[in-house]
Amino acid sequence: MDKDCLFCKIVKGEIPADKLYEDEDLLAFRDINPQAPVHFLLVTRKHISGPAAVAEEDEALIGKMLRVGAELAARDNIGDDFRVVFNNGAQAGQTVFHIHMHILGGRAMNWPPG
Ligand code: AMP
Ligand code: ZN
Repeated sequence: MDKDCLFCKIVKGEIPADKLYEDEDLLAFRDINPQAPVHFLLVTRKHISGPAAVAEEDEALIGKMLRVGAELAARDNIGDDFRVVFNNGAQAGQTVFHIHMHILGGRAMNWPPG
């Protein structure tokens, strides 16, 4: 846990979030500034600063994010068409330095991303 980290505060319940799911490893909540009709985030309870900080011991945890994310996407009726995004570093668009997986859907997506 990092006491100044926004997503650690959401994990601890110190800041409210529109939660979809939680278990012993993960929490999912809707993005406060959605970029698609469905846009939610999955975060690890453990503070990991981003994709580049994932250690070997975290591999199963990060795989679980994908499995749970796909299940939640299906529950939100976007199970067949959704985009998964992890940003790493400010230039790539990372603004919260606690690893999170974006799931976006409900509209057609463009490629390449901006
Ligand atoms: P990133 O730009 O990849 O670091 O993504 C951070 C995401 O967190 C952005 O899409 C923000 O809109 C979202 N966000 C920031 N604060 C909150 C919050 N309090 N609750 C939910 N989502 C948030
Ligand atoms: Zn954190």
